Amino acid sequence: MTTRAVRLAQPLAREVLEEVAKLHGVCIRPVALKRLDIHTGKSEIIDVPCGATLDSKCGPCARRNRSLRMAQCREGWHLDHEPSITPDPATEDQRWLIEFRADLQARRDHATDEGEAADWDQAIAELDAEINRAGMRGNVVGRTTKRNRSTKRRQDAPDLPRRTMAGTTLGRTYEAGDGKSYRPSLFVTLTLPGYGKVRDGIPINPDAYDYRRAARDALHFSKLIDRFVQNLRRVAGYDVQYFATVEPQRRLAPHLHMAIRGTLPRAEMKQIAAATYHQVWWPPADEPLDQAPVWAQDGYLNPATGEYLPTWEQALDQLDEPQHVIRFGDQVDVKGVLAGTPDADQTIRYLSKYLTKSLGQTPDTQAQRDHAARFVEALRYEPCSPACPNWLRYGVQPKNARRGMTPGQCRFKAHKPEHLGYAGRRVLVSRKWSNKTLAEHKQDRRTWVLQALGQPDEPTDPHRYLWTPVSAGDANLPALGLRLLRSIRERQRWREHLRQLEQQDLSATSPPEVAA
Ligand SMILES: [Zn+2]
Ligand SMILES: [Zn+2]
Repeated sequence: MTTRAVRLAQPLAREVLEEVAKLHGVCIRPVALKRLDIHTGKSEIIDVPCGATLDSKCGPCARRNRSLRMAQCREGWHLDHEPSITPDPATEDQRWLIEFRADLQARRDHATDEGEAADWDQAIAELDAEINRAGMRGNVVGRTTKRNRSTKRRQDAPDLPRRTMAGTTLGRTYEAGDGKSYRPSLFVTLTLPGYGKVRDGIPINPDAYDYRRAARDALHFSKLIDRFVQNLRRVAGYDVQYFATVEPQRRLAPHLHMAIRGTLPRAEMKQIAAATYHQVWWPPADEPLDQAPVWAQDGYLNPATGEYLPTWEQALDQLDEPQHVIRFGDQVDVKGVLAGTPDADQTIRYLSKYLTKSLGQTPDTQAQRDHAARFVEALRYEPCSPACPNWLRYGVQPKNARRGMTPGQCRFKAHKPEHLGYAGRRVLVSRKWSNKTLAEHKQDRRTWVLQALGQPDEPTDPHRYLWTPVSAGDANLPALGLRLLRSIRERQRWREHLRQLEQQDLSATSPPEVAA
């Protein structure tokens, strides 16, 4: 008989299973779906990889995503021909959504009072998001006209040289004396300004560290990136393409790594970064009200005065200066990279280094934890969007205000410790970067594996299967442990098969990008 101490020293079988699954690149949080084959009438439960968004704890899926991203980055960086981009034809579902959108628009146009109109606007906004989710780009009505603002509120074009636009997305090719040609590109790192002295990422004097500014900069960082790209294209004089990742610095501010196709003089890149800024035309959010606003009938009022707080629209009309102006810091790193060199490969790895981690990585030391906690506290009452309940704290009704909003309890992800103010996408890829979308890179890899295994990669009839979710309590759903065991076995089998093929030297090609 084993003693208690010996038993406790043994690892849990279930944990070892998870470890082994990770080693084999098997998704540890698979989503079970019931697949009904309408050709045969058979249905079975299929495990679909969770596909790990960055917030997920599934390491294997996160690593797989990262390696797909690396393939995508490599594909487009030094293209020497224009990518041909032809949109797919619209599907029946997509057409139906647009018809539905037309219907809602008609109802909105016939709405008689403001409240009703606002309800339709909200429904339309949700439908527009759905339209994008259904794989259609852009807004159905095109660029909507923004609020009429006085000219002094318009953001000035920065003082930068401007070249005439050439209709290309490619960088130049240079011929060297020996007849060889070179396609140089750029790798640029952009950083936010300082908020106070730091040592190893920790403020030396936390009281003097400008957490509010750091929070606002993080909240609006993605807008600054957009401005930078606009300015870059204007100066470069061609439709510059980029693959960029947003990553955390040790001081917890986001910064940007950007692979840019083509090249510009280093001094010009620095000039563009220095001239780029973004103004946030939001109401001020510095002085909290003494008393929390209360809901009355159809809006929030200030209990001290008994008057309704200005609505979001009213507050915007009163503005005469921006709430915040965001710029990059002085640290601009510009590096030239040549196509097909080991240097290019290494840079791609570096670019995607943090893609399996969240912005607010788990801090190691107490000082880091304290710093992160202060940052999160600063973000807690900072309004993250026009609809953020935090506006109530500063005497403004949030956009689409409704009963029950509480400042400090906004659920939007910008406030969460793992996002640290930056709620935008972590990977930013311009539209003409390569010919392929991430889904197509995935398909590439699948095709390669199937070919190596000598199996046909037939396009499946998209209407053949009906997928429905399986609830966790479903009696037909095997225990997760059992499902993981099967997936590991499956993985081992095809790995072994591939190895045999390689030994027989039948597989001359190498995989597009194989996950570690
Ligand atoms: Zn997963
Ligand atoms: Zn918020």
